[in-house]
Amino acid sequence: MKTFNFLEPFSYKQVPEFTRDNFRHYFENSDKVMIMLAMIQWFIATFVTSMMYNTYIYGFVSGGVLTLSLLIAYKYLAGTPSMRALVAIVMMLFSLIYIQQHLGRIEMHFHIFIAMAILSLYKDTLPIIVAAMTTIAHHLIFNYLQYYEVSLFDMPVMIFNYGCGLDIVILHAIFVIAEMFVLAYMVQLQVEHSIELHKTEREVVGLNEKLLYSSMYDSLTGLANRQNLYDKLQYITANSKRHKNKFALLFLDLNNFKNINDTLGHDIGDALLKVIANRLKSTLRENDLVARIGGDEFIIILSDIQNEQSILEGIEKILDIFKKEIIVKSKILKSSTSIGCALYPDDSKDIHELMKYADMAMYSAKAHETNNFKFFTKSLDDALHNEVNLLEDMHRALDEGEFKLYYQAKVDVSTQKIVGAEALIRWEHKIKGLIFPNTFIPLAERSTFILNIGKFVLCEGARFIKKLELLGFDAINISVNISTLQAKDTELYYHLKHALQINDIQAKNLSIEVTESVMVENSLFASDLLHKVRELGISIYLDDFGTGYSSLQYLQKFPIDAIKIDKSFVDEIIKGNEKNLILLNTILLMGESLGLKTIAEGVEEEYQLEYLQKKKCDFYQGYLKSKAIPEAAFIELLKQQAEEV
Ligand code: C2E
Ligand code: CA
Ligand code: CA
Repeated sequence: MKTFNFLEPFSYKQVPEFTRDNFRHYFENSDKVMIMLAMIQWFIATFVTSMMYNTYIYGFVSGGVLTLSLLIAYKYLAGTPSMRALVAIVMMLFSLIYIQQHLGRIEMHFHIFIAMAILSLYKDTLPIIVAAMTTIAHHLIFNYLQYYEVSLFDMPVMIFNYGCGLDIVILHAIFVIAEMFVLAYMVQLQVEHSIELHKTEREVVGLNEKLLYSSMYDSLTGLANRQNLYDKLQYITANSKRHKNKFALLFLDLNNFKNINDTLGHDIGDALLKVIANRLKSTLRENDLVARIGGDEFIIILSDIQNEQSILEGIEKILDIFKKEIIVKSKILKSSTSIGCALYPDDSKDIHELMKYADMAMYSAKAHETNNFKFFTKSLDDALHNEVNLLEDMHRALDEGEFKLYYQAKVDVSTQKIVGAEALIRWEHKIKGLIFPNTFIPLAERSTFILNIGKFVLCEGARFIKKLELLGFDAINISVNISTLQAKDTELYYHLKHALQINDIQAKNLSIEVTESVMVENSLFASDLLHKVRELGISIYLDDFGTGYSSLQYLQKFPIDAIKIDKSFVDEIIKGNEKNLILLNTILLMGESLGLKTIAEGVEEEYQLEYLQKKKCDFYQGYLKSKAIPEAAFIELLKQQAEEV
């Protein structure tokens, strides 16, 4: 709250520090003019009139004292409010001398004149107030003295006499002329200074506006910035509280914006942001608010929400923005967004919490598909809370060696012999026990931590291959799962090469499993990378085949050795019912005709295996043979098999 300052109406508006000098300079000049005025008064009221009227010398002396005191004060107080107050007092005291010099008329004149001069010159009400008070005080004192005919120094007691002689009239005229000159001079000064003053004021105001603008608006898009958003939110929440209204806070984040920045440059990225900002502005209603709070993050407030439907409509409009393509510097860009939504006051009454919740919802939306949105829910809060803890815990676990590779046998369908294994990661948590990858891999994939895991899996897998080779199992192929993020980086090639070299293992014993998403997202790069990996002698499996895009085109374009048929197809093989297996059959046929090996996943039943044998599937994995088991157990399995022969 701003406190009220009683002196405020009587003095200058608060001026910024850096303009103080300018104002001070102005006041100093005004002080000089007032001193000159005092000197003229002194001359007229004492010197001239004393000669003419042969009155008392004390008028001359006291006038001198007053003028002198102004001169001395100027040396120390020039430009200060004290100096202005002193000027006012001195000027008013001069009228005492006038009275004593039988110049009562002039004195009245003088008061008005002085008041005008002070006001117009200083543009400051403080000296006027001082002057008025001085005037009132000395009138009271003198009327008292007159009334009781008191004389301190045996002065003649003056009774007001309104008649006057020619001399007074002439003197009056002289005084008016002097008044004119001084006023003219003051006006001139005034004009000069006020021009300067206005210039300064204008600059100050302009500068302030600029500062205000840049502190409140994002310089790239012109949207409100974070600070501005917080300010406005205060107001919006207060308003909603009063009117018992709801509003929706949307957290909007562009998908893959970093990609655009990295591949096309920041200019294009900036231009894209501008276009999106403009589209957002023009789509939303006047009462809604859009702010940019970070690189590619926006906050939108949909105010006055009646029901969920109206929020959905708003979100729909926003999502539509991203459906149109954006042309920037003759490049056609496609952008998508994830939106999280939190409601005031349902989800929270606290702005910061509301933003956090909308952020969480956005985060959860992002984990799903593109152009998606999510409402905040309490369970999301809990889930995210756990996830954050889990992610933190994963860092520790990797350092402390809690991650282990388990191996699930890959079996030749026709001979039923184990020919290899898929390495499947497990988290042997010291408190929570065994944790399966489905709970932590998707989470790791949302951060770059999956890259650390990927590196670990490669090292471990390669080390295990060496161990097997040393044990005499030199034709056991171990496949490791590669996450999409890993496959986006050339590093993968060097890591694989390094893993082969440092462990001195045969490349034919190592395979990688990638999913189709690798090929979809950056097909040119992926094709290049996979070809290089293939050149190392490492095999490439297409994992979860049939669940994703399943385009024949990928199978032809990419260097793939084998397709892993997803468990869902194997599940279709039901005892005594061999119809409805068109898809499985097609995949198996396709593999055969393209010269690709086929690996069926999740085989649990004997009859499933029989069917696969009939259809000439090459390999299988599944509980029928073995679950994923620790390293030692898998070696044991291999040894058993060797003994059987
Ligand atoms: P995936 O690559 O499709 O692995 C096959 C999953 O099916 C494994 O689950 C395996 O244990 C399970 N499975 C195998 N045979 C059967 C069966 O007969 N019946 C049933 N019901 N399930 C069977 P897991 O080990 O929990 O792995 C789940 C997913 O986690 C994997 O799917 C893979 O995408 C991912 N993953 C596992 N290890 C790694 C890794 O080291 N790196 C990366 N990036 N991802 C991994
Ligand atoms: Ca796999
Ligand atoms: Ca799979």
